[in-house]
Amino acid sequence: MTLDHAWLPGLRGRGRLNLNESAYGPLPEVARELRAQMSEVNRYPEFLPDRTRSVVATHLGVDDESVSVGAGATGVITQALQDAARRGLDAGIVDPVMVTAIPTFDGYPIIATMLGLRFRGMPLDPAGRVVLGDLRAAVTADTVAVVICSPHNPTGTVVDEQELHDFIDDLPEHVIVVLDEAYIEFAERPPDLMRLIGTHERLLVIRTFSKAYGLAALRVGYGVGAQRLVGRVREFEMPFSVGPLAAAAVPLCLSRQDELTRRVNAMRTERAKMAALLAASWRAPVAGEGNFLFVGGPAGVELGSVLASCGVLVRSYRSDGVRITVGDDAATAEIGAVLHTVT
Ligand code: PMP
Repeated sequence: MTLDHAWLPGLRGRGRLNLNESAYGPLPEVARELRAQMSEVNRYPEFLPDRTRSVVATHLGVDDESVSVGAGATGVITQALQDAARRGLDAGIVDPVMVTAIPTFDGYPIIATMLGLRFRGMPLDPAGRVVLGDLRAAVTADTVAVVICSPHNPTGTVVDEQELHDFIDDLPEHVIVVLDEAYIEFAERPPDLMRLIGTHERLLVIRTFSKAYGLAALRVGYGVGAQRLVGRVREFEMPFSVGPLAAAAVPLCLSRQDELTRRVNAMRTERAKMAALLAASWRAPVAGEGNFLFVGGPAGVELGSVLASCGVLVRSYRSDGVRITVGDDAATAEIGAVLHTVT
């Protein structure tokens, strides 16, 4: 049996570059709130996360009815795909399908299986980009959902905004689109959220506090879209799914956009350093926009083995390559030291 070291509590920080976590700990005010709440864990959170929903909606400048909140992006993605599965049932589709690009976030095939959706994965192009034409070609009469991650995990590539609009316009009426923007705060030119949700009736944009906001352990994310779609997606909000610590941390994090910008900029600096290191000593990574870098092909696969054998945890994709989370300057230095030793 192989041990998944990612879950060993002692192994934290520098050597753990396999889960696209933030390199930065909680804001002092969030840490204070967490300590204050320790004595209150016998209390339930809100039954449904209406206060958090309202805080997020106000931040985005939309009505509360345009937002659904859940246990991480994973929770909201599950809600959206539950709605897609229900649409399939209502339309008499016996073998409903979700279409997406692969490789992707490991949660997707699991959620699809949970919900009785057949997972249809279309490979990325050689440059690590999602090919919208291929996704469109994979949409059949039994397709109920298309998922697009932008920036994409594991390559960090982003889809072109106008191509995305054209793609959604061209889909059959019954298909819903999940645009997974888990890494959007890191992107150079994020698409116009208002135009996206204002134009498309069956598009849910998913975001999370796990990545740039650094709250992965607290499990909170949201979906934003047209009110009719969000109303259906909210029917699958799980009671008590957003804990009090998450509910307290969200407004604190949102009120510190200065700190978010500082952290995003620091990550970009480290990413540029790591990309230069890789290009000089191994192979240039994909020019991705997430808090990670991807080296594709046999060179990437080999790099994954080398780093793993030196005790640096990274995410290897069998024959596709390796994804390395961008950490702090010590983590970049550690990668540099490994590359220096082996090249
Ligand atoms: N979507 C993508 C593309 C991801 O990479 C991840 C996590 N790695 C998630 C969703 C899940 O995020 P959360 O922690 O908010 O559930």
